[in-house]
Parts: sequence; C-alpha cells; structure tokens
Amino acid sequence: MKMLIMGAPGSGKGTQADALTGILGVPAISTGAMLRSAIAAQTETGKKAQQYIAEGKLVPDDVMIDLVLDRLNEKDCEGGYMLDGFPRTLAQAEAMDKAGIEVDLVVVMEASEETIMRRLSGRRICSCGATYHTFFKPSSKGEFCEVCGKRLEIREDDKPETIKKRLKIYYSQTAPVVEYYRKKGILITVESERGVDEVTREVLKALGRG
Ligand code: AMP
Repeated sequence: MKMLIMGAPGSGKGTQADALTGILGVPAISTGAMLRSAIAAQTETGKKAQQYIAEGKLVPDDVMIDLVLDRLNEKDCEGGYMLDGFPRTLAQAEAMDKAGIEVDLVVVMEASEETIMRRLSGRRICSCGATYHTFFKPSSKGEFCEVCGKRLEIREDDKPETIKKRLKIYYSQTAPVVEYYRKKGILITVESERGVDEVTREVLKALGRG
C-alpha cells in the first residue's frame, strides 16, 4: 500500500508515520529526515537544501522530486511505503502522477495552531534520526538520546519565528495539495489533538485494520 501522511508542521505526522509503519510493516520515508541527514553528511543535495530549511522555506521542487523518486525506486519500497512530508506542492504531486505512482491513501492530520506551537517548541531530535518531546515523549536519558547517547538538539527551523513562516507556507502551498487528493476521493482526515495511540487506532480503523 502506498500512503501519504500530510499535515501542518507539528500536526504529528512524523510520530504517526513511525507508529503506523511499525504496525503495517512498510518503511516510513520522511523527506525532512532525508534532508537533515543529507545536510549532516554535506552531500550535494544537503548543500542545496541547507539554507532553505534553516529559513523555514521549501526546498525547490526539482531537488525534492529527484530525491524522492530515487528513494521510492529502492528495494524496500517495493511492497509499499508511507511517505511523510512529500508532496508539499502541486508540482510535486503532479510529478508523482507523471512517474506513474498511484497513491492508495492520503492521511491528513489536523491540529489547532495552539497545539502545533506547543508541540514544536518541545520537540528534540538526535542526529541518528530518533525524535523526542520534552513533555509528550521525553528521553529516559534526559538531554541525551536513548538510542545512541548523543546530546539531543532543537531543530533550527523550530524557532518561533521560523515556525510561523512554515505554517504560512503550509497553508499557501501544501493545503492545495490536500484539496487535490480530496478531489481524487482517496483522502481521510484525522483529528490529532488526542493521544498518539488513539490517533493511530483511528487511522488503522480507516484502513480497515482496526
Ligand atoms: P519536515 O521534517 O517534514 O517538517 O521538513 C523539514 C523541512 O524540510 C521543511 O520545512 C522544508 O524546508 C524541507 N522539506 C521537507 N520536505 C519537503 C518537500 N516535499 N518540499 C520542499 N521542502 C521540503
């Protein structure tokens, strides 16, 4: 099954993608995580993306489309996947169609702006890819990662003024993509204000797996 998980920054899409893919047995492909590791490794893509991400802007479509289409051709994607963070523009959605990728289901996470701000301000990440939250999902090792022991970091684009810019971009550029899939009749919306497990159960029910 080919699924997309969409929603504003802080709507909980990454958390749900991790929970759902564990249960469904397909890989979670997060474009944000791919870009952050490309930046850490200073690859060509990482160098191109760095400034856009730090400023809360979208990375150009041509860079993203190449990155994602290459990744979806890898072997672990043969049995399906959950794509988190792509497409974020109509041009990206159209590029998927053009590449012959038929999306089965789009899950849209909805949360109020107040919840989004609260979630993003407590978010902590590790360079190994693990994610935490000071309130909702604290690391048992305090300031350090449970998986690899490194010191946790605050994402550069989680600063309040950058968060506001990212939200604005979501409503102007990504909300039309949500409408694009709504018209295709393959979209479900999930209200994500509740606990993580409850939201996961609701999505599984919508998938007929509840
Ligand atoms: P995320 O972790 O999904 O919030 O993504 C972090 C940042 O990576 C975004 O604010 C964008 O700068 C960039 N990014 C991730 N996915 C995309 C995409 N599909 N198109 C453009 N930029 C993206």
